[in-house]
Amino acid sequence: MNLHENYSLKNYNTFGVDVKARYFIDITSYNELRSLLSSDLIKTNHFLLLGSGSNILFTKDYDGIIIKYSVKGINIIDETQDHIIVEAAGGEIWEDLVTYAVGKEYYGIENLSLIPGTVGAAPIQNIGAYGVELKDAFHHLESLEISTGLIRTFSKTECNFQYRNSIFKNELKNKCIITKVTLKLSKVKKINLSYKSLSDELKDVRHDDLTIKLVSDTVKKIRQSKLPDPRVMGNAGSFFKNPELTNAQFIEFQKRFPDAAYFKQSEDSYKIAAGWLIEKCGFKGKRIGNTGAYEKQALIIVNYGGASGSEVKELAEKIQNDVLNIFGIFLDFEVNIV
Ligand SMILES: Cc1cc2nc3c(=O)[nH]c(=O)nc-3n(C[C@H](O)[C@H](O)[C@H](O)COP(=O)(O)OP(=O)(O)OC[C@H]3O[C@@H](n4cnc5c(N)ncnc54)[C@H](O)[C@@H]3O)c2cc1C
Repeated sequence: MNLHENYSLKNYNTFGVDVKARYFIDITSYNELRSLLSSDLIKTNHFLLLGSGSNILFTKDYDGIIIKYSVKGINIIDETQDHIIVEAAGGEIWEDLVTYAVGKEYYGIENLSLIPGTVGAAPIQNIGAYGVELKDAFHHLESLEISTGLIRTFSKTECNFQYRNSIFKNELKNKCIITKVTLKLSKVKKINLSYKSLSDELKDVRHDDLTIKLVSDTVKKIRQSKLPDPRVMGNAGSFFKNPELTNAQFIEFQKRFPDAAYFKQSEDSYKIAAGWLIEKCGFKGKRIGNTGAYEKQALIIVNYGGASGSEVKELAEKIQNDVLNIFGIFLDFEVNIV
């Protein structure tokens, strides 16, 4: 096993926060995982699973084992005339899986282009963007329970997917490692332009000329114009979730704030754009120390360089407080705080 002690995590989290792990192990094969699980090390230490570190904020050194899961592989496990069932290993890079699917013209995840991170982390918060969530293409996943070494398969229903949430962010948080994710993708052309900025961008393209590659490239183009590149400016994408209001709560809210940005979520609920709430509290583009809310999208907290995790968390809590005081709405963190 390739075990490191007192290891810097600076290059393993997209915030670029410089903390140390007591132990760090990069698992590149299933056998390595098995031998880690049968070792004394795992029995006598806390542990934390890590993918690409693009949805995590380390606020202090980690006094345990960081288990980075890097096992790779993409396989077709079944095929019908209309569908393909693709299994990807948990350490596969999500964008590599999207590129593979787009290249083969397997429809379903092209709107999720350019989301950083690993395949194994994608179900944790049911990643979503541009009108599609992982759950829409999800078939099942395989996991390994760390304390027992037992393999368990989860169906879509068992994952309890919700908006940026799943069973793995709650009851099963850090209890099992997601080793394989299986998707059901369409071989038949299916383009989803339900998201306004995407349909606006492609409004002049005839339906026959819309290709999976064009949709994927357009999503990438929009993302690159709006989101800070973590290689240039540390961040973990949206720091907060968009808050959800019931119809009754929304009517009251809209009476008080008629110009609020929102969208209808379901028959019974609306989502308010958290970025709008944060912007109205005066945080957009405002720098506090080494951190701040991004100038183009207030939902993203950035590290201008040298920020500590607790400095970022402090700003996030200040934003939470101000939004609560002004709008009476509590903003949940989307990012995992460690
Ligand atoms: C610029 C930018 C843009 C982003 N845009 C989006 C977006 O559009 N939509 C979206 O949904 N997210 C977005 N994100 C957030 C992030 O990309 C996703 O949440 C991604 O799935 C995280 O993957 P990761 O491998 O980096 O996970 P990590 O940050 O390493 O881990 C996240 C959580 O998953 C757990 N975990 C990781 N791997 C495993 C595993 N194999 N088994 C069990 N648990 C595991 C960790 O313990 C942690 O709790 C963005 C982030 C950035 C930096």
